[in-house]
Amino acid sequence: MMKIGFVGLGNMGAPMARNLLKAGHALQVFDVSASALQTLVEAGAQAAASPKAAATDVEYVMTMLPAAAHVRSVLTGDDGVLAGIARGVTIVDSSTIDPASVKAFAALAQQQGNAFVDAPVSGGTGGAVAGTLTFMVGGSASDYERVKPVLSGMGRNIVHCGDTGTGQVAKICNNLVLGITMAGVAEGMALGEALGIDPQVLAGIMNTSTGRCWSSDTCNPFPGVIGSAPASRGYTGGFGTDLMLKDLGLATDAAKLARQPVFLGALAQQLYQAMSTDGAGKLDFSAVIKLYRREADAA
Ligand code: NAD
Repeated sequence: MMKIGFVGLGNMGAPMARNLLKAGHALQVFDVSASALQTLVEAGAQAAASPKAAATDVEYVMTMLPAAAHVRSVLTGDDGVLAGIARGVTIVDSSTIDPASVKAFAALAQQQGNAFVDAPVSGGTGGAVAGTLTFMVGGSASDYERVKPVLSGMGRNIVHCGDTGTGQVAKICNNLVLGITMAGVAEGMALGEALGIDPQVLAGIMNTSTGRCWSSDTCNPFPGVIGSAPASRGYTGGFGTDLMLKDLGLATDAAKLARQPVFLGALAQQLYQAMSTDGAGKLDFSAVIKLYRREADAA
């Protein structure tokens, strides 16, 4: 059993930290939100007064923060992780951020004898609570072997993607495809409706034909087609449009750095941007179908 510093106790970090406690690890936790901190203290963690304090006298440090700017300040601030951590302690960041920032953070950590491993997750808050997340790990083979037992307390699939940064590459490329396929299924379902086919019949054909994908057979955007999909409960729960928008932004930014075209990704980004601007940022991203359906049909 390990002593772990954990920074960032939000929708994902709090249940992940709770699962580490359940697995028998001792946790020193920090969050800027006092109530988030208190919830974990009640679950058995020890509160730390700063990221530095959370990283002092531990064997691992985990971070689960909104974006790269937060990771940078938690790592490099005067009261940051790098100011408190001992040589040889591994930092695992599970936030979804850009691969270039990961490499910069890894270089900073390495300068003082610490490995920095990117391990973004898929599986959402449900997977975080159930301890069934997939971790996409970027780092050396030995980094991977070292972090695997800790990550196993929070996830089911712990996949080594390659060198530092490739965990984020896997995450943003997958979500690029997801953002595009959801828009594609929405477009097809809305066209079918406009042309007069029963959506249930159309989805059934798609799901036994070449259009089949997760966006059609598990999270179909047309209300009522899949009972358990967010579309069938007013697009609540699921994966928020603003989070999809964030991930598509990371993908298009990374593509720009690599001078690689992402024609459909850029278009999908604009669709989710339009939704967010219209106030639908908190709805499941499958609500993208509202951009296609005529108001009278969608009512
Ligand atoms: P969240 O906003 O719920 O939680 C972030 C937490 O970080 C908050 O508690 C906040 O108070 C804390 N925080 C912010 N700045 C801080 C600082 N300087 N020091 C300490 N704590 C600080 O976000 P989340 O949904 O838990 O997501 C975390 C990361 O996981 C994001 O990068 C997100 O893209 C990614 N992710 C989220 C989901 C999801 O379904 N929510 C799924 C996969 C990946």
